[in-house]
Amino acid sequence: MRKILLCCWIALFLFTTASPASAQGTVTFGEIQTNYNFGDQAVFQADLNTSESVQEIVLFLEQPGEDTLVRPAVITQNSQAETVLDLKEYPLRPFAQITCYFRLKTLDGQSFESNRATFHYTDNRFNWDLLEDEDFQVYWYGRGITFGQSVLNVARAGLESAQRYINAPMPQPLQIYVYDNAADLQSALSLGLQNAWVAGHASPDLNTVLVSIPSGPQQQLELERQIPHEIAHILQYSLVGDKYAQMPVWLLEGTASLAELYPNPDYPRAIVDAVESGSLLAFDSLCITFPRDASGAFLAYAQSESFIRFLYRTYGTSGLSGLFEAYSDGLGCEEGAHAALNTGLDELEYRWQQSALGINSEWLVVRNLSPYLLLLAVLLVPPLAVGLTKRK
Ligand SMILES: [Zn+2]
Repeated sequence: MRKILLCCWIALFLFTTASPASAQGTVTFGEIQTNYNFGDQAVFQADLNTSESVQEIVLFLEQPGEDTLVRPAVITQNSQAETVLDLKEYPLRPFAQITCYFRLKTLDGQSFESNRATFHYTDNRFNWDLLEDEDFQVYWYGRGITFGQSVLNVARAGLESAQRYINAPMPQPLQIYVYDNAADLQSALSLGLQNAWVAGHASPDLNTVLVSIPSGPQQQLELERQIPHEIAHILQYSLVGDKYAQMPVWLLEGTASLAELYPNPDYPRAIVDAVESGSLLAFDSLCITFPRDASGAFLAYAQSESFIRFLYRTYGTSGLSGLFEAYSDGLGCEEGAHAALNTGLDELEYRWQQSALGINSEWLVVRNLSPYLLLLAVLLVPPLAVGLTKRK
């Protein structure tokens, strides 16, 4: 199995940029060679010439958005510096540009470093095909070129759709990786069972999108749903940069869901059910995170999409941009809405319920008071009944 993997991915062996080996004092490193099986194991090796007694040798690994990792290295019988990294214990960021180098310390305290090597940590469990234009690089496996072209077409339409709601340029080229099924994607992201409903993922700082599109009659609809959604997340990052994490989740997921070319047909039903059962989620509970369970998360997406649609119709793209700007400024969930739209989140939510869901305020008051009305009835009816009986 491993041999097949070795053959099928050209980038399995990756070399340093073509710089000469560094020569410092009496210690000389060759170029670092990297060889990995995605999510399993990586081996880093470099020829080593030294006449010094070695006290310690380590490998440094730098990846975007993560702390630098330092792992011990050994000197092999072939006079190579070598580190074998267990990727299950020390996972690298999928599709990130990784930089690595060895550092050697001699017994008398001198330090020597190898040249830095960089490689792209691609998921080499699969044999990816590539189709690209000036905006997108589309990667997929196991399906023909027609599928790749469909992905590219949807990506172009999805970008147009997402830019209707998020006024930001897309960094080019955006890399889109299409997995065949959700399990392959989830294993690439090292997600546990609690995230088993995750189908797509964006790494905006890596300008990379991962989606999972099973073959079958739903294939095109899934493309039209997932790809514009993830492109929207890329645009949001382009708009607010590292303030992305400060944005309310209902704003991020609501605009991304609204950008979908094929809106989820089950969202309206989920909202109607929640209205009927009195289980609508309050938006101030959806600022930091969404519910972890699948049905709670589904309702949160459905509500956020409907809420953003209402805000877009009421305040336009500039209103949505104002929200992103206010939250970038560090304002809280309630305060940001007030600063951008002159209306608090509670009031916006109330208006959304009236306008988009047709819930009138009297009905809401009655519904919210219904437990108390029932209690009142229980308390009042027996004395009244007694009174009526006595009057007889
Ligand atoms: Zn999303």
